[in-house]
Amino acid sequence: MSKKLPTRAEDYSLWYNDLVKRAGLAENSAVRGCMVIKPYGYAIWEKMQRQLDDMFKRTGHENAYFPLFVPKSLFEAEEKNAEGFAKECAVVTHYRLQTDPDRPGKLRVDPAAKLEEELVVRPTSEAIIWSTYKNWIQSYRDLPLLINQWANVVRWEMRTRLFLRTAEFLWQEGHTAHATAEEAVAETRQMLDVYAEFAEEHMALPVVKGVKTANERFAGAEDTYCIEALMQDGKALQAGTSHFLGQNFAKAFDVQFATKDGAREYVWGTSWGVSTRLMGALVMAHSDDEGLVLPPKLAPIQVVIVPIYKTGELDALMERIRPIQQGLIARGISVKVDARDTERPGFKFAEWELKGVPVRLAVGARDLDAGTVEVARRDTKQKMTLPLADIVAAVDQLLNDIQANIYQKARAYRDDHLTRVDSYDEFKQVLDEKGGFVLAHYDGTSETEERIKEETKATVRCLALAEPDEDGTCMVTGAPSPRRAYFARAY
Ligand code: AMP
Repeated sequence: MSKKLPTRAEDYSLWYNDLVKRAGLAENSAVRGCMVIKPYGYAIWEKMQRQLDDMFKRTGHENAYFPLFVPKSLFEAEEKNAEGFAKECAVVTHYRLQTDPDRPGKLRVDPAAKLEEELVVRPTSEAIIWSTYKNWIQSYRDLPLLINQWANVVRWEMRTRLFLRTAEFLWQEGHTAHATAEEAVAETRQMLDVYAEFAEEHMALPVVKGVKTANERFAGAEDTYCIEALMQDGKALQAGTSHFLGQNFAKAFDVQFATKDGAREYVWGTSWGVSTRLMGALVMAHSDDEGLVLPPKLAPIQVVIVPIYKTGELDALMERIRPIQQGLIARGISVKVDARDTERPGFKFAEWELKGVPVRLAVGARDLDAGTVEVARRDTKQKMTLPLADIVAAVDQLLNDIQANIYQKARAYRDDHLTRVDSYDEFKQVLDEKGGFVLAHYDGTSETEERIKEETKATVRCLALAEPDEDGTCMVTGAPSPRRAYFARAY
């Protein structure tokens, strides 16, 4: 607690990593690339889950659960998907250990317990789910099938970073089946909208909705839609994806249905997911050099009350604090009273600042006698003295203001980091000097996209859905281009 965080300007990456650990969100584990999510971090994730889950249910989805393991023969059925994920797969080959005859007290894999068929630890669940859907779908009456799963997945990532990219991560994956392509595309777009609404309304994170290029498309999808956000160092982060799978998985797993006219057709699919990466986005988008800045809607503790008292006076003061606490709770606000007698108020202030609690009330007998409370907001660090009489309504309003202000601030940063350029030189200059999204014309080929990536480390984040048509020429090859793409260096 005594050591200060590195500042964002000094070393953004170190600041992020230190903050995640010091605020008690997560830490590295004994397993390479896998993190331990600590209680305070998990409490934020639970709030995200609860909100997203409500939104999925409201749009007609149900939760189910499928196995962690995918038999290799099922995994390889959809070839593009299998090929795309092959390099990141953890594979179970044996099912038993035994005492090692050469190393007393140690274990080894029992060579006699080799699995007949290897099991892939799911990097994503299309294969296991579509092999199940074959049994669930016979007729048009079985459609649409709208399922979501909350689960962990494993992708053997080589360069990992707490929350943003881990080898095991938590996520939700929606997997839906439809009678027509139009319906499946509508579902894909609907879930993209759900993600965008969640990001903007709850995470206070402005996002760009768009389509990925073929290079960045999910393996096995016809189209990948995404939401892209900007972090405070000017780098972009893919915050969620929604895939139109066409009939690829239906064909791979022979999932057909009888239409109303008695014909047999392959069903159309979608899948969509957001992960614990959102935790990283939340931290990177809003926090400052003093610690986390959490949007009230996702803060596990929205208000902390710190009693200000002289030795021996705590019990009496607590009696007067309790009605304030109860009033806030009755409004649906989550409150923590930090009555630890072992720490001084200044220490507590710094700790709750580090943890990003949106509102702090410092409550002392003298203020209460005068009918006031000292209130501090985390986002602007502004302090004010408010009347005790309507403190509950005032705090409620303040939480709304903070939620809106955090969004506006991130929005202003994002808007300020959207640059249109017309030449490759200008493109490189903006990337180096300012960062952010750079909107440029390119010829739409994978070759040019690759070349730009190699030369500048920037990728096409998406073709934004809201970007208007505009005739232009590719900044690299001079070939015609109908619309600008969103480029950025990204996490
Ligand atoms: P995908 O299945 O590749 O479309 O990814 C679904 C979601 O998981 C996206 O929102 C990604 O940003 C996120 N994601 C992908 N890989 C990782 C990872 N290694 N760690 C955390 N999140 C990830």
